[in-house]
Parts: sequence; C-alpha cells; structure tokens
Amino acid sequence: MAGINILDKATIEQIAAGEVVERPFNVVKELAENSIDAGASNITVEIKDGGLSSIRVTDDGEGIAEEDIKKAFMPHATSKIIDINDLLSISSLGFRGEALSSISAVSDIELITKTKEELLGCHFIHEKETDSDIEKIGAPQGTTMIVKNLFYNVPARKKFLKSQTGEGNMVNDLIEHIALSHPEIGFKFISNNRPVFQTSGNGDLKEVIYRIYGRETSDNLIGITVEDDIIKANGFLGNPSLTRSNRSFETFFMNGRYVHCDIFSKAVEEGYSEYLMQHKFPFCVIHFECDPSMIDVNVHPAKMEIRIHRKEEVYSVISEAVRGCMSEREHIRAVPVYESKEEIKEFRLPPVPPKDSPEPFEKNRILSIRHYDPIEESEDVIKQEVPPVVSNVSQMDLFEERFLSKDSMSDYRIIGQVFKTYWLIEYQDKLYMMDQHAAHEKVKYERLMEQYHKKSVTSQSLNPPIIVDLSARESEAVSEYIDVFEKLGMEIENFGTGSIALRSMPQDLYGTDELGFFKDIVDELMENPLKGDPEVILSKIASMSCKAAVKGNTEMNREGILALLSELMTLDNPYNCPHGRPTLISVTKQDIEKRFSRIVT
Ligand code: ADP
Ligand code: MG
Repeated sequence: MAGINILDKATIEQIAAGEVVERPFNVVKELAENSIDAGASNITVEIKDGGLSSIRVTDDGEGIAEEDIKKAFMPHATSKIIDINDLLSISSLGFRGEALSSISAVSDIELITKTKEELLGCHFIHEKETDSDIEKIGAPQGTTMIVKNLFYNVPARKKFLKSQTGEGNMVNDLIEHIALSHPEIGFKFISNNRPVFQTSGNGDLKEVIYRIYGRETSDNLIGITVEDDIIKANGFLGNPSLTRSNRSFETFFMNGRYVHCDIFSKAVEEGYSEYLMQHKFPFCVIHFECDPSMIDVNVHPAKMEIRIHRKEEVYSVISEAVRGCMSEREHIRAVPVYESKEEIKEFRLPPVPPKDSPEPFEKNRILSIRHYDPIEESEDVIKQEVPPVVSNVSQMDLFEERFLSKDSMSDYRIIGQVFKTYWLIEYQDKLYMMDQHAAHEKVKYERLMEQYHKKSVTSQSLNPPIIVDLSARESEAVSEYIDVFEKLGMEIENFGTGSIALRSMPQDLYGTDELGFFKDIVDELMENPLKGDPEVILSKIASMSCKAAVKGNTEMNREGILALLSELMTLDNPYNCPHGRPTLISVTKQDIEKRFSRIVT
C-alpha cells in the first residue's frame, strides 16, 4: 500500500461538498430552502442546461447584511442555530450551515443581496476559489444567488450526472414540490429562458395544482381533511379520471417537507382501490401533520424517505379517510366547454398568474434592455412603479448587434416623442422606447458621481446667491449633510437665523429650478433621513439632485436625443436610472405582428 497522505484543504472541502452537492438538484434545493428560511414571499428559480451551465435563485427575503456575507460562505456558518440545544426547536429548513460553503467549493457563485435597513445592496463573487471584494450596488431587497460552472474542479462527479434534460427534470419536479408545499409563496420557474410555471403565492393549494398540472386536473379534485390525534391531513385526491400509470402523481408532505413514504402511498391506494384499475395509481397532493417524534427522517441522506411510527394506526386512519371521501362523491368528470380557440388554448396551458416574482436583478444591471412583451403583460404590471416591467426580460444576446453602440447609430430611425416623455426609435427588427427623463437623470448622475470621485466637480456660482428660509428641522437636516452638499458642488452658507444662502451649483445641474430642487432634496432628507455610509449618502443626494434637475427639462429635439443616446453609450450601466427604473425598453417586430394577428405562435 502507498504511504498515508494528509489531504489538503481544497480536497477536504470537495469531499465534504460531495455529501451535500451531488447534482444541480441539490444546489437548487439548498438555495430555494435558504430563500424560504429568509422569509421570502416570492422566489424565482432559473436554470440553464439542466442547471449545469447556470442556476439562479432570486428572492425578496430579508437579505444578508454586508458583514455576514463572507461568513455565510464559511463551513458551519449558520444564522439559524447557536448550539446543540437549538436543534430541538428548529423550524427552519436548513441549519447545518454547510450548503453555501459546499456549493462554493465546487462551483463559481455570485451573490447580490440587500437588507431592508441598507440603502444599497452588496455584490460578491466567489470564482475559482477566490473571493472578490464586496461591491456596493443598487438592488431591490432580497437575495440573488447565481451558481455557474458546477463541478468544474471535480470532473469525476460530472460522469455520474444524467443528461441536461434529465437533470432539468429533477429540478423541475423539485420546484413543483416546493411550490406545492408552500402555496403562500409565489414561485416562478424558468428553464433555458422559457417560463415553465408560476404560482401566485395566494395560499390556495388548489390554485398551485392548477398552475402546475392544468385545468383538467384542478377541475377534478376532491378535498380531503383528516383530524385525528395521531395524524392530520389536508389536501386533494384526484377523481378517477385522473388516475395514472405510476406513482409519480402521488405527492405527500410531512410537516411541510416533501417526503416519500410507503405507508402513505399504500394507505391512499387502499382507500381508493375500488376506483382503480389494475396497475393504476391515484393523483393526490396531501399535507400531513403529526408530532415530530412520530417520524424518523434520517433514513435517507436527502431526507425525502421517512419512516413513521405506529404504522398500522396511521395506515388505517388514512385509508379510511380516503375511502370516506371517495364514497361521498359522484365521480363525474368535469369537462370544460370551449367557446373559442383561446379557451381551448387556455384550458391546455395554465395561464400565468400576476407577475410579481423577483427578477434576477443583475441581468438588468449588466446586460439587458428590458423587453416588453405587450401580448403577455397585464396592464397592472405596466403600471407598477419600481420595477415597472418585471417579466419577459430578454437578455441581449452577446452576438446580437447592440442597440447602444456608435456603429448602430447611423441605422437608428428616430420616430419621435410620445406623451412628452418617451422617444420611439426603430432599429433593425425592434422598436425601442427610451424614457427621456430616466435616461437624462442617469447621465447627469453618472457625470456628477464621476466628477466627485475625481474631485473635479465643476461648480457654477449663483449670482446673486439664492436665500432660502428653513424651519428648525430643515436647517438641522441641511447642517447634517452640509459636507456632502459641498463636495457635490453645492456651496451653502448657514446664516444661523433660519436662513441659508445657496451660493453655487454643480455645473451640470445649473440653469434649472435651483430653489425648487434644493427644497425637494431637503424635503426628502427630512422624510427619509440618511444614516451611515458617506458613499451611500453621497449617491443618494446625487440621485435626488439629478432627479430634481431633469424635471425642468421636458423639451428635447432629435439632436438632443442622439446626444443623450451617445452619452448613455459611455456608461457602464446605461440601462437603469439611479432609482432602478429602466431607461430603455424594446418590443420586437414579431410581437407587434402577433398583436395584429399577422402571425400566430
Ligand atoms: P444554513 O441554511 O444551514 O444555515 P447555508 O450555508 O445554507 O447554511 O447558509 C448560511 C447562512 O447564509 C444562512 O444561515 C443565512 O443566514 C444566510 N443565507 C443564505 N441564503 C440566504 C438567503 N437567500 N437570504 C438570506 N440569508 C441567506
Ligand atoms: Mg441552507
């Protein structure tokens, strides 16, 4: 035998990781469970190539505080328990504190997160076993985790994976089960850019069944409730018209967790037996509840297989309840009547519920122009303030000709302005709409911040200075932030008598309604005082100034628009204004043709 080796840290971590992360399924499960533990109301899961190319989980939960980010990736790092005593009272899904460290040992992982308390979010990347610095960025509350290059450093693991489709199907089943176990959370699942299903999170289990299995299933359900001392149950059995050839449509949850349990399957099948042909199995979705001491979850490492104590009693309670439900009912299949082609289509495809799931945030930030699909959007979504159009964000293909590039400009056809705000521009096979105010604000903001960082804010003195009378509280707000104002090129002299003199403005913001916008900033500061990080305060005040400054600028001509577009091109992220609203959206020619029924698909 060869000599004994002491394994290095990377190898030890990979071995530990192997116990948690066997395939994309495990990554998605851990990330989604963390989102649930974080109190999310909406969770979006997106995978590419079965999760092998990328996995993205976005939630609107509590987020991770900046100081906790690096800790969260360490082995045995958890916010959910402190010591062994807490294990007895744990209600969260994960608590071993090893998911993130294991995932990051075998993949590249990117995190964008923001807590309610923080003004800006954090961006952190762990790539090829190296941590980036934490960068501050604008982000909505919640967390986005992106996992790429899974098993890049464990080629042996890859050999044991199924095909991309096979891995993708496992993830699909997982998300269905998680959605069925949490009807109160809205889930959206996207695979290879295609929305697969979406639930509304309104708490109605039947509605989730409808979203996943379609109308024929949800129209053919029989409710089941069991209130017994030994076990409680709540859920649905399918009419005999829904029976299947295998057990994969028998879905059970025990105390909120998706489980496999022979006793449950056999008991339901026994109670249902009169209505089952040979080799057929019922459709059911049932939530069970019992005292945790009644079950043993440690039979299977993935915790799906459970063993239950007092089997015989449990078996007879369940089978009797099922028998009772079935015999009370008249099993007439509900057949929908179609009025039009649309209804047939609707019947086959569960319609998409209101779209309020969190969208992968960095997508907008880095690559895309929001793409508005007029056919699939509901009016309500369009009216929403921030973010205004959350769904159907089409990521610009890397090889697609970019709209925002000098080379493209000569091919723009500027059609004109509508509603005094939006400019319509035809380019190739898309119609682009630019929000003039958002774009303008963005440009001004970036210029001001850049000048500030280069310590070269050019200010323009106001002659005569503008005298502003302030209340005691207003004066206090101004004094508190006076340094920031000055660094941004707004020189303020405090007379100490309730008035101040505004002596200069940043050049870029000069020439607008200075008094009006200074007051707007003060109002905003009083309502939402900014605490803490000077950078954050700075960027907030800068964005408020810019917002106020563009108000006055409604008139714009084509040359102005072209100039604005060229300025946008120079920015790192031209696609969102400092408040996160998009500056540009697009509609494809194909979408318009669909709307006019020139093409169907
Ligand atoms: P565990 O969930 O077992 O505690 P993990 O490695 O999965 O361990 O996560 C480590 C910690 O990171 C969690 O305890 C939690 O504090 C934080 N965390 C992970 N994901 C999220 C999320 N989506 N939202 C908020 N906090 C999270
Ligand atoms: Mg966890």
